[in-house]
Amino acid sequence: MAKKFGIALVIVVMLLAIGVWQRHRILVPLATTGERIMPSEEASLPADGKPFGEEAYFYIVQLDERTFAIAEPYSWAKNVNYLIAGTDRALLLDAGVGFYDIRPVVKQLTDLPITFLPSHLHYDHTGQGGYERVALVDLPHLRDRAKENMFAPNWGEHLGVAEGLEPAIWEIDEWVKPGSDIDLGERKLTLFYTPGHTDNSISLLDRASNIMFTGDYMSAGNISAYYPGGSMGDYLQSAHKLLRATADSPNIALRGAHAGDDGQLPVKARSDIETLRDQLVKIEDGTLESTGSYPRVYAIKEDVVMQAEPRWLQDWSPTYPDDEN
Ligand SMILES: [Zn+2]
Repeated sequence: MAKKFGIALVIVVMLLAIGVWQRHRILVPLATTGERIMPSEEASLPADGKPFGEEAYFYIVQLDERTFAIAEPYSWAKNVNYLIAGTDRALLLDAGVGFYDIRPVVKQLTDLPITFLPSHLHYDHTGQGGYERVALVDLPHLRDRAKENMFAPNWGEHLGVAEGLEPAIWEIDEWVKPGSDIDLGERKLTLFYTPGHTDNSISLLDRASNIMFTGDYMSAGNISAYYPGGSMGDYLQSAHKLLRATADSPNIALRGAHAGDDGQLPVKARSDIETLRDQLVKIEDGTLESTGSYPRVYAIKEDVVMQAEPRWLQDWSPTYPDDEN
């Protein structure tokens, strides 16, 4: 009898361990339908936004002479993608939700050759897939998977399964090392590896324009570290890194990749990263309260919440502990 009970207990413990290890594979299908979420009928539109085309799905906001935000106010994600032009070429940072083709919008805005660079590989940033040129952050865990420069995001990186979308396969033209510059012609962007939201997230620093494009690391409203590849240790390491990179630019504008509920373009300040860093330290030592079950929700400041895994599942060791860029 005791022996049978012992075996049953071992099996239960093993099943629980597998359940915890494979939690995203279990939770993502439970939390989503696997079907397309249609755009909403009404939306709050970004100030000074101009609708594109008859469908008026995309809204374009010109930030300066060479920088455009391309917003998707009607999508559930309220994505904001950026077209950043130099004199030789333009960079498309993110391409929106995979059901909508951003390429005609970009063509209308510039004649320059376009390089697509995802801020990270979630399907609401990778768009429809095919681009003239594709750049990707040069990280060992991505580069090792590319065969003859062909690369496809994996299940957990892409998460398109939530709406029944397959990841694209890209030919990578440009692997960008963290800390190095992307030269657009009379305009340089420095790429920083800023994981936390995912383990492939990047930020771009445009020193001359005093803008840091932060992807989903820091956007309007929610920030989240509970998806596959998300990590609290990475979030904290990236906060230190972003603060170092902008130490000489106290008034830098942080431009994230999702609008808030008010539909306006996201813009945060360097001090918001300081607050985030301080609150992360409190989360790590267990002194910041949280609510909810999964994800746990931490109030970072009045207009920012962080969705994270419960403390016993939080990983506080960075993906690349020695990385400074
Ligand atoms: Zn994301």
